[in-house]
Amino acid sequence: YDDRDGKIWMDGQLVEWRDANVHILTHALHYASSVFEGERAYGGRIFESRKHSERLRGSAEMIDFEIPYSVDEIETAKQQVLEANGFSDAYVRAVAWRGAGEDMGVASARNPVRMAVAAWEWGAYYGDAKMKGAKLDISKWKRPSPETIPSAAKAAGLYMICTMSKHSAEAKGCGDALMFDYRGYVAEATGANIFFVKDGEVHTPLPDCFLNGITRQTVIGMLKERGIAVHERHIMPEELEGFEQCWLTGTAAEVTPVGQIGDYSFEVGEMARDIAKSYEELVRR
Ligand code: PMP
Repeated sequence: YDDRDGKIWMDGQLVEWRDANVHILTHALHYASSVFEGERAYGGRIFESRKHSERLRGSAEMIDFEIPYSVDEIETAKQQVLEANGFSDAYVRAVAWRGAGEDMGVASARNPVRMAVAAWEWGAYYGDAKMKGAKLDISKWKRPSPETIPSAAKAAGLYMICTMSKHSAEAKGCGDALMFDYRGYVAEATGANIFFVKDGEVHTPLPDCFLNGITRQTVIGMLKERGIAVHERHIMPEELEGFEQCWLTGTAAEVTPVGQIGDYSFEVGEMARDIAKSYEELVRR
């Protein structure tokens, strides 16, 4: 996968895909000093591009480093990558990290901060689940307290338990895992936020210890525009049984209906399908 044609933006310039490498003593590789973004371009235009660039810089600040590029420079880099690769519909991955340098230990103030932007063509994140509803396992790992880790950052360190949860879910034939938080409340999937429907109203976990996704915010706006009540609140696992519909939101996942979480089933209902379809239209507008 690394030995292919294409261009990647690295530290200010476009390099060959196969040459976009880092040294083995990269601080981020050892200590997770890395932040990233997942974005999607539709028809050559990245949906909510500036919000993603701003979040990238914000995530870096939350884990104590500064990205040496402005939002405008990041915007230009992303556009250059799309154009250089001739992509119209693509997933865009921006990443910034503490590189290799004099510091080999935990502290790394003397090492350069580096940044790259790659893009590739990536279809539906959950395969055909868009129509049938994704099947979710329940993870044994809990989203940590914001006092344990800066949980609002889109930082690599927060994804270790996501990868473990998703691998465990896939081994059971599920498409993803639902994670609870450190208090036991329903939190999110491993790379997407979650919504539930009951009696025509929407309930979604309060993002007080996980990412308040850009797609999540977009979908809440769409629901409110339709006059649908949205309750952002703490949700107990016992409540799963009473919800009628469920869907996931995320840049990669877009809006994906959920058919099952553990032993609980949900219908791929009208609201889930309507929101999924409207989101598809909105991102191309
Ligand atoms: N939670 C996690 C853990 C994620 O990785 C993502 C994807 N970035 C989301 C939620 C959804 O965020 P967004 O809608 O901004 O892509």
